[in-house]
Order: sequence, then C-alpha cells, then structure tokens
Amino acid sequence: MIELQDVSKKYPTGQIALYNVNLKLQKGEMAFLTGHSGAGKSTLLKLIALLDRPTQGKVLIDDFDISQLKRNQVANYRRSIGVIFQDHHLLSDRTIFDNVALPLMISGMRLPDIERRVHAALDKVNLMSKQNDYPMMLSAGEKQRVGIARAVVNKPSIILADEPTGNLDPGLASDIMQTFLQFNDLGATILIASHDQPLIERMGKRIISLQKVKSR
Ligand code: ADP
Ligand code: ADP
Repeated sequence: MIELQDVSKKYPTGQIALYNVNLKLQKGEMAFLTGHSGAGKSTLLKLIALLDRPTQGKVLIDDFDISQLKRNQVANYRRSIGVIFQDHHLLSDRTIFDNVALPLMISGMRLPDIERRVHAALDKVNLMSKQNDYPMMLSAGEKQRVGIARAVVNKPSIILADEPTGNLDPGLASDIMQTFLQFNDLGATILIASHDQPLIERMGKRIISLQKVKSR
C-alpha cells in the first residue's frame, strides 16, 4: 500500500537526506523506521505525507504515484493520513475536545457527527474524562495521547508518527506504543520513526533502518 521506488531527497542546501530508498509496506502493516539523528527519518515521513516532494523517485500509495495528484486533491490526500509529531502543537486556548475536533471542523462535518467521532477517538486513548480540560492541565503523556486522538479522528488508513515517545519516560512510551497497536488492530497501516532501539525491539514488528548519507 505504501511504496517508495528509488527515492532520493536533496534539500536546496545541497544536503542529501535520502539516497535511493526502496521500501514497501503492506496494507495493515505496522513498522518502525530507525536510524541515527540525521538519517532521514523525518524526511521520509514528510514525503509520504506529501508535505515535501522527492528530488528523484516515486512514492506510491495503493499503486498510485502521489506526485500525480491534482492541486485540489492534495489537501484531501493529506487528510487521509494521520500524522503525529514529537511536539503535539496543541492549541493552548482550546479544550481537549476542541483540539481533537479541529480536523473535523475544517472538513465541515456536522456537529453531532463531530461529537461522536471526537468521543470515539478520546475513548480510544483513554482521555474521555479530560475533554473539557485545557492542554496546560495535562501531563506530557496525556498531551501526546491528545495528539494521537487528533491524528486518528478522521479514521485515516495510514498513520505516520515522528518520534512520538521522544519526550516521555519509558512507562509512558510503552503506553503510547500500545495505543498504536490498537489502531493497527483496527486496520491502520502504521510507520513510526524512533531511535529508541530497546522500545522498538520489544514491539516485535518490522524494523526499517536508514543509514545517514554522507554529504558530497
Ligand atoms: P532524522 O529525522 O533521521 O533525524 P531528517 O530527515 O530530519 O533526519 O534529516 C536528514 C538530513 O537532512 C539531515 O542532514 C538534516 O540536517 C537535513 N535536513 C532536514 N530537513 C532539512 C531542510 N528543510 N533543509 C535542509 N536540510 C534539511
Ligand atoms: P465510530 O465509527 O463511531 O467513529 P469506531 O469504533 O469505528 O468509531 O472507531 C473509534 C475510533 O477509533 C475512531 O474515531 C478513530 O479515532 C479510531 N479508528 C477506528 N478505525 C480506525 C482506523 N482504521 N485507523 C485509524 N483510526 C481508527
């Protein structure tokens, strides 16, 4: 379902972030992307999310080359992917409910449907009781779970996460991984960038390792 064919990415600075990467993820697969800082993990996720484009090669989703998407299809495509970052970028002046509802508001969904979906998503990450709280009142692990709820509230078939446990202690990091396993069980295809080797080895899933490209 996700395929990279001979993908290279050279930034305008001349930095080569990815060189000739080939990769296939099956529908419903969960895998980890690992490698040292600077190996190109974030870049690879951005290319799949169509937040940036490769300088060479193709990214195919369900055998379709996403560079061929029309301008007006790009937003739709991005919405079909749930992206989770290390910093959750929650809006501090909005409640947890509103933070999670945001992607649905933007897509123009009706309020009763929004409520149902937000509650379902908050329930999945065990945060129903916090829906009227503000981000400031939450712990780091809880904030990260809000970020996950917001990313999955559209029921994306693909979930991408960039160092989602980077700021969390080991216990909370394991909880977050359990949450991803749940969404994987529901059928989502999941790719998680992480350099927490012990944690990802415990998960027993496929590990894709990126090597850093030397500047030339
Ligand atoms: P990782 O996520 O594995 O740490 P990145 O994808 O962030 O790696 O970065 C890969 C390489 O590309 C690094 O050398 C980084 O400095 C460089 N890089 C990342 N983003 C940019 C950018 N916007 N402009 C220039 N160089 C970048
Ligand atoms: P509903 O259909 O009432 O929204 P579901 O029980 O089907 O609720 O799903 C509950 C929540 O789990 C959803 O709101 C969504 O956040 C998440 N979810 C369900 N299926 C998927 C999926 N395939 N990928 C990602 N998230 C999902």
